Amino acid sequence: MNTNLHNPWEIQHVAAGECIFREGETGDRAYLIESGSVEISAKQHGAAQILSVLGEGDVFGEMTLIDGHPRSATARALDDCTLLPITRAQIETKLGNADPLTRLLLKLILSRFRGTHGEREPAPFKHTRTLQQVAAELNIATDLRQALEGDALEVHYQPIVRLTDQTIAGFEALARWNRGAEGYVPPPKFIAVAEDTGLILPLGRWVLNQACRALQRLQAQYCAADEALFMSVNVAAGQLHHHGEAQMLLDTITAAGAAPARIKLEITETALLDDPQAAARAMQAFCGQGIRLAIDDFGTGYSGLNYLHRFPLHTLKIDRSFVSQIPQDAACLRLVRAILGLCREMNLVAIAEGVELPEQAAALHALGCEFAQGYLFARPLPESDTLQWMEQRATGDDKQSVNF
Ligand code: C2E
Ligand code: CA
Ligand code: CA
Repeated sequence: MNTNLHNPWEIQHVAAGECIFREGETGDRAYLIESGSVEISAKQHGAAQILSVLGEGDVFGEMTLIDGHPRSATARALDDCTLLPITRAQIETKLGNADPLTRLLLKLILSRFRGTHGEREPAPFKHTRTLQQVAAELNIATDLRQALEGDALEVHYQPIVRLTDQTIAGFEALARWNRGAEGYVPPPKFIAVAEDTGLILPLGRWVLNQACRALQRLQAQYCAADEALFMSVNVAAGQLHHHGEAQMLLDTITAAGAAPARIKLEITETALLDDPQAAARAMQAFCGQGIRLAIDDFGTGYSGLNYLHRFPLHTLKIDRSFVSQIPQDAACLRLVRAILGLCREMNLVAIAEGVELPEQAAALHALGCEFAQGYLFARPLPESDTLQWMEQRATGDDKQSVNF
């Protein structure tokens, strides 16, 4: 198929008999048939069954636009076809502007529709959300929107230290939501809702703005003034794929007066691979301004490694699930050693996440890991506590200094 990956609006010509996409593949686009006809088939009871034959003006492959799940059918051109692709990035822009209820209901309808479609139900749909779950999410979304407008959101900062001398290299900014009587909501819970409802866009910008401003205050406090600290901020898939959001984030950094080279954006492997073209565009935009890019939770994404040289990356963050098993688990130790070797080969900086024990820090240090972050050094703290923590270290009144 003559696929133009760079211009999603570009017409595609498909010859008769060619496969447009296969059942089970990941997809990032739907197609409008301009001319020709397309057969849609899916495996049922072990054999391929023709579901429909579509013609001029019909749209197919649209489900992946909303939920990003694998194709539930195969599409093949019956005769020479002209197709107009519609990418997920284009739809995300529109959906991002829709209200939370519309987005959630659309996703619910879609997952139910997929659940009744075909014999092989892909794993993600086994846990189709019930209306009660959608209602609970909407409740969170409504409160989260208010929290964003009010002052119930906070950013905490977790230091990232050099393992050689335990000096501070930078911080990771982590969002916190104090939901009144309920207390702090676990970030994975409200971040997931923010992603589902599009609230991740204002939330992400807010966190970035706070973090950029905090970095300047933390830097001012830091005695070793010639050592420039960095600030790491998490970027969710929805932010990366939303058209124009990369520029919004760049503008946020500029408006906050932060040096782009001191800002690191953390992106998970899955966010990169969901919509590689949109991700690549955003990452090039960040990189072009001197912002550093990190792969978060490295090794947990079940992905190939070929994206490592496709994207302009600076850092790999070794996931806590590996770090927590060392040094006692020999397989994990080998894995961490291999990741560090990969980092050296690819000229990437390694940061170990979730270091809780001195023996973990010692093992990482012995393996040549340069940076670490974890409760062993400090938990994520409000800015005032972070400043105090730094002051204690600077004055030598540091009971938290770690021996390993
Ligand atoms: P993450 O990006 O992997 O962040 C690291 C998580 O590990 C944080 O959890 C941190 O508190 C926790 N952690 C750090 N050191 C240790 C340790 O030694 N032991 C243990 N057990 N945990 C440790 P947190 O703050 O609950 O955040 C969870 C996730 O929520 C984050 O995982 C990130 O994916 C997401 N998140 C948090 N804030 C934001 C944000 O502003 N934007 C986006 N997009 N995601 C965020
Ligand atoms: Ca992170
Ligand atoms: Ca992480």
